[in-house]
Amino acid sequence: MREFPSFTTHLECSATGKRYPADVLHGLSDAGKPLLVRYDLDAMRQAVSRDEIAGRAEGGFWRYREFLPVRRSADVVSLGEAVTPLIAAPKAARLHGAHTLLVKDEGRLPTGSFKARGLAVAVSMASAFGVKRMAMPTNGNAGAALAAYATRAGIESWVFCPDDTPEVNVREIALQGAHVFLVNGLINDCGRLVNEGKAAMGWFDASTLKEPYRIEGKKTMGIELAEQFGWQLPDVIFYPTGGGTGLIGMWKAFAELEAVGFIDSRRPRMVAVQATGCAPIVRAWQQGSEHAEPWKDAHTLAAGIRVPGAIGDFLILRAVRESGGFAIAVEDEAITEAQAEMASAEGLLLCPEGAATYAAWRAALAGGLVGREERALLFNCATGLKYPMPKAGRPVDCHGPVDYAALAGGQ
Ligand SMILES: *Cc1c(COP(=O)(O)O)cnc(C)c1O
Repeated sequence: MREFPSFTTHLECSATGKRYPADVLHGLSDAGKPLLVRYDLDAMRQAVSRDEIAGRAEGGFWRYREFLPVRRSADVVSLGEAVTPLIAAPKAARLHGAHTLLVKDEGRLPTGSFKARGLAVAVSMASAFGVKRMAMPTNGNAGAALAAYATRAGIESWVFCPDDTPEVNVREIALQGAHVFLVNGLINDCGRLVNEGKAAMGWFDASTLKEPYRIEGKKTMGIELAEQFGWQLPDVIFYPTGGGTGLIGMWKAFAELEAVGFIDSRRPRMVAVQATGCAPIVRAWQQGSEHAEPWKDAHTLAAGIRVPGAIGDFLILRAVRESGGFAIAVEDEAITEAQAEMASAEGLLLCPEGAATYAAWRAALAGGLVGREERALLFNCATGLKYPMPKAGRPVDCHGPVDYAALAGGQ
């Protein structure tokens, strides 16, 4: 078994900069903030080139192993992660008078969402550290990915969901071997239960940004994008923001890619998209605050971005500001309408959170926040097939004569 080249030097508190040793199991820093993995980027620069990576046979993000914390190939827990396609949406772009609109379709990953990236790496690391039980709060997709990867690694998983989590998520979590619980509260209430129960239950807390490795998996979206764009990047990225792992992760990836000489200093503008029923990051961005106050009475049909308070709020806001981007909220009605428009214009079924990015792009274009010639990239973070869709189909009686001409009328 080939060992991975490993460039991890240490972990660092994202708030205070305090250093922590790499080869020990960690949760949050002493300051209660997320820990970030740091690498010897100079050594990495000497050791690996873009051409070498391009020549690698393996698909999926493990091809970027130098940028990952996993030290031994034997520790990799994989379900066949794919490189997710960039899909052009020229008709949707033209509908709004723009040139280029691209969708990165993360629904092609195992368990049908980009949560697979983060949990594949987090579970691989937990497994390397000998963790036996993991627990997390989830709005659905993260729990499904945890259940799948943990089961594959022989680790027990305990998953707490709000009791209105999409049924398909709850069922897939259970089928994939997790203990799953329905909580009469929101994801932050579920997070509190995990936190309070972990000492008694021996759980390792796999909550968003409360362990350091999910973000390393999520950051591969940024590396993959850069490779797909010929080691350049789009002009503006619309990201459906809940806990913000992907946005923070991509921003981290871009800095690492520049440090190893894979990309130059140009950066996309990062746009955090939320729903008007739960928009703590948008409010903080508008107020110019460094942190986001928790959102009260959070509601939106886009379950994946119904996150009233994010522990990495300051990191999301920092990345958005440094990039010259912005934060924007869209109504649930606009999400539903945008989903239908993309599906009928392009044959591309977005999940509600993905549709939120399309709705936000349309609004930003109309409001002059984004230019018509800018290359915009939307994240479709999960397969649209996981979510309830409007009822459809008209009855046809196959026992009598069918009036075919009449079929053309109506829906
Ligand atoms: C988790 C999730 C999000 C939010 O991702 P973060 O990186 O945690 O902000 C968006 N959409 C879907 C479908 C999700 O599952």
